[in-house]
Amino acid sequence: MDAAVLTTDLLVVGAGPTGLMAGLVAHRRGLSVLVVDGKSGPTRESRAIVVQARSMEILDQLGLAAPVLAAAQLAGRIRVREDGPAVGADFASAQRGDTPFPGARIFEQSRTERLLADALAADGAPVRYGCALVDFAADPSADEGVEAHLEDPDGPVTVRARWLIGADGASSPVRHLLGLPFAGVTDEATFCVADLHGVAGLEPEALTARFGRRRFAILFPLGPDGHGRLIWLHGGAEPDQEEALAGAREDLGIRYERVDWFSAYRVHHRVAARFRQGPVLLAGDAAHVHSPVGGQGMNTGLQDAHHLANLLADIAAGLREPAQIDRYEAERRPVALTLVRIVDRAFGVIARPGPGTALARRRARDLLGVVLPRLLASPAGRRLGGWLGQYRIHYHPVPDGAPLPRWARDRAVGRRLPPTAHNREALRELRWQLHTYGADVPAARPSVPEAVAGPFAFPAEPQQELRGDRLYLVRPDGYVAAAWPLHAGAAASADVAEALAACGMRV
Ligand SMILES: Cc1cc2nc3c(=O)[nH]c(=O)nc-3n(C[C@H](O)[C@H](O)[C@H](O)COP(=O)(O)OP(=O)(O)OC[C@H]3O[C@@H](n4cnc5c(N)ncnc54)[C@H](O)[C@@H]3O)c2cc1C
Repeated sequence: MDAAVLTTDLLVVGAGPTGLMAGLVAHRRGLSVLVVDGKSGPTRESRAIVVQARSMEILDQLGLAAPVLAAAQLAGRIRVREDGPAVGADFASAQRGDTPFPGARIFEQSRTERLLADALAADGAPVRYGCALVDFAADPSADEGVEAHLEDPDGPVTVRARWLIGADGASSPVRHLLGLPFAGVTDEATFCVADLHGVAGLEPEALTARFGRRRFAILFPLGPDGHGRLIWLHGGAEPDQEEALAGAREDLGIRYERVDWFSAYRVHHRVAARFRQGPVLLAGDAAHVHSPVGGQGMNTGLQDAHHLANLLADIAAGLREPAQIDRYEAERRPVALTLVRIVDRAFGVIARPGPGTALARRRARDLLGVVLPRLLASPAGRRLGGWLGQYRIHYHPVPDGAPLPRWARDRAVGRRLPPTAHNREALRELRWQLHTYGADVPAARPSVPEAVAGPFAFPAEPQQELRGDRLYLVRPDGYVAAAWPLHAGAAASADVAEALAACGMRV
């Protein structure tokens, strides 16, 4: 049978959270998009359940925060004891004031996928489910041009695209076809997840840490009537459901009425050697996998996708040079490496099963109840809240080690613009823009491309992270690209030209 031939700007392989986000943003930014997935519809498994603050900000930018706010369970506290004075800490307090969405929102991956897939369908670009990638051909030295071969229920399909994003999960066929190494380690312990009903003592708005003689577990509230998610590390390989849950009941004292879903798997900590080969890019679990304990995996994939789709849309619109495509790997791969090296390992050590670590954990528990609230109220706690909420990620505006030019000597450059009560609508525009905070609109618009909106003058930013004597250039993904000092209400044209050149922007 002859293959049907389709042409599109962007082919996204995989309609997990990452691929759906990439497709939605690229489509809203004006690219023609085809998102395909071999499965028959959004996943029914709850899988990743934590939506972090930065993901909420992105969903808000896309007009999709309200359904999550309405349906999610908000967990803002962690309980480390069942009784006594030092019962736990309010971790949302470390994020309050820095993000409109403090705390962890518990919203299952199945619902996140449904939300994004419905938005794509409503926008006229429905996911093509049941359609699996078989292989593709692309020149690794070219910036654009892929021919992909897919298998659809109606027969073979050929797709010609400018770019292909492999958002096809941890065992990514795209990464394998590229022959890219996926270096890292696999944990010895098995990670267990169970969705339970009728859990005794489950608090509706708090995470509960359980300290057993061998194991450590965290319980997340999923809904009313003791509906919760238990996650724990089981020593030893591949326990079946009964064995793993028996261990949790005996050691952790968990009591519940029934199990909805159980899964046990080995946790990998791996990062692909490259995130791009020619016109083919990797995002989400296809590019990096981590421990699920910190609730970072799906959220990192959502941010990869948001970053990459905006970058490709800028290139397609002729706003940025094609060579800027390298920025994706330059900015996002270090985020994945940090996650695997630091955050993942720290959580791995805390949760490791065994009598020795369990004893140390139980001894630390009382101290934790006292120290944690103080830590969370300190500047270090605020930084930690920003890392976990993923809104503190920093991209280097110039190559590491290079001297900082004037337009980059501001702490906001390379960071996400703090959302305020006033800039929210402007950020929803998904376009480049100029902002001032607590200053008048500059008398003359600097020499920037016409597609850059503004300047918009907003009231002073309450956390004082944005200065009144700066003109900020904000990217469509909400990151600050440049901060030009204002002299007599104007930015120096040499500073403007230098920053635009560094962003690969055409004037
Ligand atoms: C059992 C389980 C429990 C988890 N629990 C947690 C948790 O509690 N917390 C947490 O943070 N993370 C958890 N994770 C990890 C989390 O689910 C991932 O980080 C997240 O799904 C990554 O999203 P993604 O879109 O990058 O990849 P995926 O969600 O894996 O999506 C990849 C998609 O690609 C499709 N695909 C693959 N090959 C092809 C092909 N050839 N052609 C077309 N489509 C293809 C697949 O069908 C799939 O839909 C869990 C994962 C699993 C498996």
